[in-house]
Amino acid sequence: MNEKEVNKNENELKTCPRCKKTYTGYPAISRKDNKTEICSECGTAEALEDFNNYLKGQEKDKKGN
Ligand SMILES: [Zn+2]
Repeated sequence: MNEKEVNKNENELKTCPRCKKTYTGYPAISRKDNKTEICSECGTAEALEDFNNYLKGQEKDKKGN
């Protein structure tokens, strides 16, 4: 994949498909499919979701300890 052109227009107004808000600047990439551009707020939210899922997974493993 060629990503050299990605940063060409950082002031462009984009719409986040996750929260439907408009944003400018660098997008975050959705963790759901690793290609959808979302706002950094949603990027943080998804990172937190991921982290929570990670913690849930850890809870399961605790039984063995
Ligand atoms: Zn968003």
